[in-house]
Amino acid sequence: MIFKVLLHAIWIALLTLLTQVGGLVWLIALVVGKLLRYKWPLRGLTWLLFIPFYCLVSFLAVPPLARLSGRVPLPAISNPQLRPENIWFCLLNRHYVRPGLLRALEEVTGQMQNRFPGTVVWYMDANFPFFDGYPLEPHFSHKDGKKVDLSIYWNDAGTLEPVEGNPSPFGYGVFAGPLPGERDYAAECERKGFWYIGLDGDLAAPFYHADRYVFDAGRTAELLRLLAGHPAVSRVLIQPHLKTRLGLSGLNKLRFQGCKAARHDDHAHVELR
Ligand SMILES: [Zn+2]
Repeated sequence: MIFKVLLHAIWIALLTLLTQVGGLVWLIALVVGKLLRYKWPLRGLTWLLFIPFYCLVSFLAVPPLARLSGRVPLPAISNPQLRPENIWFCLLNRHYVRPGLLRALEEVTGQMQNRFPGTVVWYMDANFPFFDGYPLEPHFSHKDGKKVDLSIYWNDAGTLEPVEGNPSPFGYGVFAGPLPGERDYAAECERKGFWYIGLDGDLAAPFYHADRYVFDAGRTAELLRLLAGHPAVSRVLIQPHLKTRLGLSGLNKLRFQGCKAARHDDHAHVELR
């Protein structure tokens, strides 16, 4: 009995860490399941209740409540040019931002179409729907609705056509690493003891073939240039070798994140002013 309670507690904590509202929904499913068990003694009743409850809460209750606390969801499917890199970012409620950041992203997405018609801006982790100061693990600064990660661009090495999102199964960890002769900041950080900054790369590596993809410098440079030029954006974190390679050294808003956070040559981290 104690073991079972402990397991539920760990699971609720994990759901809360990953999705913010999931732990609470699990608790409701547990209680409702207990009440219904005598009528429907089904195996897995809690799960049968949790999945529809979680969808109902996420799709119907969270968006209007989040609006009250000053956050809006990024478009899941409604904008064909501004999309989640993976639908799981939306299903886990990790795609909430302040309205000003949504506006800025929509404007930059529109501007991207001038030079690269049809280009999609792929977003990844943003923020949870509620509470300033509640971080979205593992990105500890994504806690105020003002942060969002955007994918850099990749093409198919054979056809040179853009790929959907990026090659990583979870959006992070496919690096446009330093070329010979470029300064390798990630390696310097690792030598200083920040061993974890490339961890996403190790997690993603078994799931894709690096030689099937080529980095799209043109679209990535355009995206970074437009972000840096947007008045609502305060700064964009990107690995310095990319800033130099893409000819963006003059843009002061493009910064190095330092050694404490994960490396930024798989995504750009955008902050609202
Ligand atoms: Zn970030």
